[in-house]
Order: sequence, then structure tokens, then C-alpha cells
Amino acid sequence: MAVNCDILIVGGGVMGTSIAWHLAKRKAGRVVLLEKSYLGAGSSGKSGAIVRQHYSNKLTASMAQKSLRVYEQFDQIAGGPPVFTRTGMVLIVNEKDKPGLDANVKMQQELGIDVRPVAAQVLADIDPNARLKEDEIAIFEAEAGYVESVQVVASYAEFARREGADIRLGVEVESVVTEKNKIVGVETNEGRYNSRCVILATGPWAAQLGKNLGVKLPVQACRTQVALYRRPCDFGRRTAVYCDFVQGIYFKPTHGEMIHAGSLQGEEIKQPVDPDQYNEAADGDWLPVVRQRLSRRYPAMHRGYGRGGYGALYAITPDWHPIMDKLPGLEGAYCAVGFSGHGFKMSPIVGQLMAELVVDGKASALDIAPLRYARFDENDPVKTPYSYGVMG
Ligand SMILES: Cc1cc2nc3c(=O)[nH]c(=O)nc-3n(C[C@H](O)[C@H](O)[C@H](O)COP(=O)(O)OP(=O)(O)OC[C@H]3O[C@@H](n4cnc5c(N)ncnc54)[C@H](O)[C@@H]3O)c2cc1C
Repeated sequence: MAVNCDILIVGGGVMGTSIAWHLAKRKAGRVVLLEKSYLGAGSSGKSGAIVRQHYSNKLTASMAQKSLRVYEQFDQIAGGPPVFTRTGMVLIVNEKDKPGLDANVKMQQELGIDVRPVAAQVLADIDPNARLKEDEIAIFEAEAGYVESVQVVASYAEFARREGADIRLGVEVESVVTEKNKIVGVETNEGRYNSRCVILATGPWAAQLGKNLGVKLPVQACRTQVALYRRPCDFGRRTAVYCDFVQGIYFKPTHGEMIHAGSLQGEEIKQPVDPDQYNEAADGDWLPVVRQRLSRRYPAMHRGYGRGGYGALYAITPDWHPIMDKLPGLEGAYCAVGFSGHGFKMSPIVGQLMAELVVDGKASALDIAPLRYARFDENDPVKTPYSYGVMG
């Protein structure tokens, strides 16, 4: 027998579960979330989940800023265990990126973000293991850190259920059903769900249901990689998160004396994959390259142990920024997709904004017009001075 609901969310990653929680909190009717495999099965469960406010435009910096405030107090706001570890973030560029960096820092300081340039001797106090060359420029964002990605998704799902949402796992949406340009429901592997509102939070799978709806969602599933290294015994205390443009890598400390590292160079866009069939192992010839770059910043890591790595998925749009909007020409269809390798940090505000868009007809916490669906056709993408898309 068909299930009836008021709002149906497709996708149980960090965005779908956050949206479910916000909608359920607002008592927006019967909210159902359908996830085809398990919670966090896409990008979210494998995320680095670094939370920084460093962005090159006001909207995304503000999204990160508002979300950080939630993550800092996740347990008090919503219950569950704390999820945020504050480490600070060091960002390093060379001369060629200095004008862009200076403009970004100025914009961020105007927003009240605690970010400042640091000289080599100050960086040595923040992180005694790090080396900075004379021609390299570093800034420090004091409030940054990272969250426990798996726990965040699990907590959102628990909060959403507690507020009355129905979260169903192992239910794949095979098609979205429309009548006279209105959404009326979805067909799944376990039958029909009737709903006049469907929100796609389908991450790297976004293009598939978009195509079924006759809407081109320009979201490419791409393979990225993560390398893991054990810190050597003499490494000392756990340190900051890094976005190291000179070495072309980001890295962060994790529990168990490990460092998680990945590329900042944007090569993922050249690795489009089928999100249901991609190589989930890290490439054997990539891991030593990352370790060499890491050791240039952290000489002590020459003595660290390689602990393997894994392959994962980014959902990349042409401007490396998400699409958060109603879908054109279809009453009741919405999407929050294409977070392009940097969305985890924004999930609290994404849930709130999408709930506002669906319930109130307009997002009010921030003006999300720059993230509208039509921007690509209008040749008005979100712009960034960096040539590294994943930094936004
Ligand atoms: C290795 C890695 C490192 C990252 N590091 C950071 C970082 O440091 N900081 C940061 O902010 N962001 C980071 N990100 C990006 C961040 O993790 C993603 O932007 C975010 O997790 C996207 O969440 P999502 O909910 O949109 O997508 P996903 O987590 O992919 O969720 C989509 C879900 O939809 C489900 N689904 C798809 N189609 C259907 C269907 N037809 N029916 C039912 N269910 C369906 C999938 O199974 C999946 O669970 C990183 C990502 C990766 C992979």
C-alpha cells in the first residue's frame, strides 16, 4: 500500500538528515527520508569534515560561520555527544596567491571571523612541527577545527526521528512521479510514496533523478582519495588543520595519532565515475606522493607510518558550489546538491535554509540566490580567485 507524506527527502547523507531534522523541528507535516543504502553511504561517511570559515565569497563564508556556531554546541542544541574538535586552521600560499588571500582575509575579518597573518616564528609556537619557507605566506583561523562526520549524520537522524520524522533505510527512489508539472510522489523498490514535495539531497547521484524529472542537474560524481599516516612517537601534541596550497594538499589530525590528508589541486574533476561502481581503494602510487608533500611541511612525518587510504566521492558542479533551489517548471521539487567536496561544514545552515525555502517559500537566514539552479544557464557562476575549486 502506498505511504502518504507531506515532504519526502531523498538521500541520507549529512544534507538530507539535517534537512529532515529542521523540517521535523518546524512541524512541517509528515516528513519521510528515504536512503537507498545506509546513513552516510555517500560522501558524508568518508568526509574529512574540516570546519573552516575561509571562503572567497561572503555567502559561503557566512554559511560556514553560522554552521560553526551550531557545531560548537551540537550536543547542547540538539543532544547526542559533542562532535567538534577545535584545532585552528593554517592556510599557506606562495606569492602568486597573495592578492587573492589578502582580499579573502579582509572580507572574512569584516564578517567578524578571527583570521590573521602569521609569521614563521608565530607558526612555530602554534605548531612546532611545521616548517614555513621565507617566500611562503601563512594565515591562521583560530576557530576552525573538524567534526566527527559519522556521528554528525547519526545524530541528525536521531534528532529528526525524535521530532517525528520517519527515516527509512534500504529504500531506493527509482523515479519521481509528476502530474501536470506537479510532484505527486516517488516510485521505490518497495512501492509508491505519495508526496507533493520532494527534496533531492542525493549528493553524487544527483544527476540521475534530475534526468528522470527532465531537469539537467550539472553535478558530476568524481573520485577523490584520502591518505592516512600514523604520527611518529616524537611528533608531540596534536596540531592544526592545514590547507597548504604550496604543497597542494590539505591535512588534519584525527584520533588514534593519525593524520588524514588529501589533494587541494582539484584533479577530481578529471576523474568522473559511476557513483555505484568506483575504486574505493587509494592508488598505490599516490600515497607516497602525498607523504612526500606532507613531510615537506612536517619533516617529522618522514618517520610516520603509512596506514593506507581510500577512494571516495565528490559531487562537483561547474563552479564547485552547491545548488540549493526549487527545480524549474515543477511544483514541489527542490534540491540541495553539488557540495563539491566542501559541504560538510555547512550542513547546519543548509538544513535551516532548505526548511525555510520549503515551508516559508523563501530562505531568510541568508540570501541564497547566488546558489540558484539557473546560474549556469545565465552564465553567472559563483566566482572565486583561487584556482583550487574545493576551497570555494
Ligand atoms: C574524502 C572527502 C573529504 C571531504 N572533506 C571535507 C571537509 O574537510 N570539509 C567539508 O566541509 N566537506 C568535506 N567533504 C565534502 C562533504 O563530505 C560533502 O559535501 C557532503 O558530505 C555532501 O553530503 P550530501 O548529503 O550532499 O551527499 P552524500 O553524503 O553523498 O549523501 C547522498 C545520499 O543520497 C543517497 N541516494 C542517492 N540516490 C538515491 C536514491 N535514488 N534513493 C535513495 N537514496 C539515494 C546516497 O546513498 C547517499 O547516502 C569531503 C568529502 C569527501 C568525500
